[in-house]
Amino acid sequence: MSTTDTLAPVPLARKMQRIKPSASMMAKKKVETLRSEGKKIIDFTIGEPDLKTPAHIAQAGIEAIQNGCTKYTATSGIPELLRAIKEKYQRENKLDFALDQLVVGTGAKQLIFSALSVTLDKDDEVIIPAPYWVSYPDMVLLNDGKPVILEASEHNGFKMTAESLEAAITDRTKWLLLNSPNNPSGSLYTEAELREILAVLQRYPHVLLMIDEIYEHFSYEQDYISPLMVNSGLGARTLLINGVSKAYAMTGWRIGYAAGPAYLIKAISTLISQTTSCASEISQKAAATALSGDQTCVRETTALYKKRRDTMVALLSDIPGLVCPQPQGAFYVFPNVQGLLGKTTPSGKTLSNDLDIVHYFLDAAGVAVLDGTAYGVPGYIRLSFATDLETIKIGCEMLSQACSQLK
Ligand code: PMP
Ligand code: GLU
Repeated sequence: MSTTDTLAPVPLARKMQRIKPSASMMAKKKVETLRSEGKKIIDFTIGEPDLKTPAHIAQAGIEAIQNGCTKYTATSGIPELLRAIKEKYQRENKLDFALDQLVVGTGAKQLIFSALSVTLDKDDEVIIPAPYWVSYPDMVLLNDGKPVILEASEHNGFKMTAESLEAAITDRTKWLLLNSPNNPSGSLYTEAELREILAVLQRYPHVLLMIDEIYEHFSYEQDYISPLMVNSGLGARTLLINGVSKAYAMTGWRIGYAAGPAYLIKAISTLISQTTSCASEISQKAAATALSGDQTCVRETTALYKKRRDTMVALLSDIPGLVCPQPQGAFYVFPNVQGLLGKTTPSGKTLSNDLDIVHYFLDAAGVAVLDGTAYGVPGYIRLSFATDLETIKIGCEMLSQACSQLK
C-alpha cells in the first residue's frame, strides 16, 4: 500500500493557523540538513549546551535503566526527585515549598504550556515582555489566550518598567510571564527593579505571575535573586518554572519542574495525567542526582560560559554596524544590527531587515544565527555562545569578513 498523499488533507484545527513552528527548533533542523548535504556551518542558533551531561548524572541514568526504573511514575514525579527539588529551593533560593507544591514535567516547556492551558479561557490576556522566548506567544495562542506584548527597549537594558507593566494590565490579564535571565537578550532584573514590578502586581490580585528561571545559574555579575525571595507576599499566585536542561547540559533528558500554589500544581498534574502521564523515570532519576549531587559542574559551566560571553561580545563589538550589549545572564548575545540595514551584498541584494541579514550570514559566511523578529523585536539577531571558544572565534571572524564585504 502506498503511503503517498493523494487525497486533499483533512483540515487541521483552526488553532493551528494561529501558530508557527518554533524558530529555534527550525533553525536547528536547518543546520542539520545543511550539514548532511556536506556544507560547513557554524551554528550559533539553538540554545543548547555543547557540553556532555556530567558523568555522575549520566551514570545515574544508566543505573536507573539497569535497575529497572523504566516504568510509569506518579504523575507529579518520583518522591526522590520532588525531595531534591524541594531541597534545591531551600538551598539556593531560601524558599520553602511543600511536596504538593511541586511538579515535574517533560521539560520546562511542557510546564509553561500546561500552566497556561489550565488557567486560560478565551481571550484571557498574558503580558509578555519583548524580546521574549519564541514559544511564549504561540503557547498562549494555542490555549485561546491573547498575548499582550510589552516592548522592553534596548535603552532600558531590554527590561520592562513597572509603569509600562501597570499600563498593560486590564481586567482580562491572567498572567505576567517573566523570563530572567532572559532568552534572547540576557537581561537580568535587579532586586530594586523586581521590587517595583512586584509592587505593581500586589495591587492587581487577579494577575498571576509566572517566572521562567531556566537560566538562573547563568548569572555572570551577581547572584541570581528569585522574585519570590524579594517579595514572598506574592507566593499564593506565583509559579516558578525551572529545569535541568541548561544548568546540567541535559536538554535531551527532558526534565523540567514547577513550584507554586498547590491548587495550580494539582491542575497541572491532572493535565499531565491525561496527556503524557509522567516524565521518563530514567530521566527523573538522573535529574534527582543532578539536583542533589555535587554542584561543582554548575559553577564550572558558569565560569566557562562567562569566558565565552566575554570573547563573543568583544569580537562582535569590533564589527562595524553591530552594537553588542553585554548580556548579564543566559547564554545568548543579542546585538543590534540596524547599522547593516540598507547595505548591499556582493551579489547586489539590499539588506532590508534582520531576516535578510540572517540569510546573508548563512550564505556568505556559513554562520547560522536567529533573527530578532522571531523574538518580537526586529533589528536584532540572536547568537548562542553555548559553544566552544574556537568555534566562537572562527564564527565571529567569518561574520566580520561578511560584513566587510557589504557596501
Ligand atoms: N524557557 C526558556 C526561556 C528557554 O530558552 C527554554 C529552552 N528550551 C525553555 C524554557 C525550555 O527548556 P526545557 O523544555 O528544555 O526544560
Ligand atoms: N530554548 C532554546 C532556544 O531558544 C532551545 C530551543 C527551544 O526549545 O526553543 O534556542
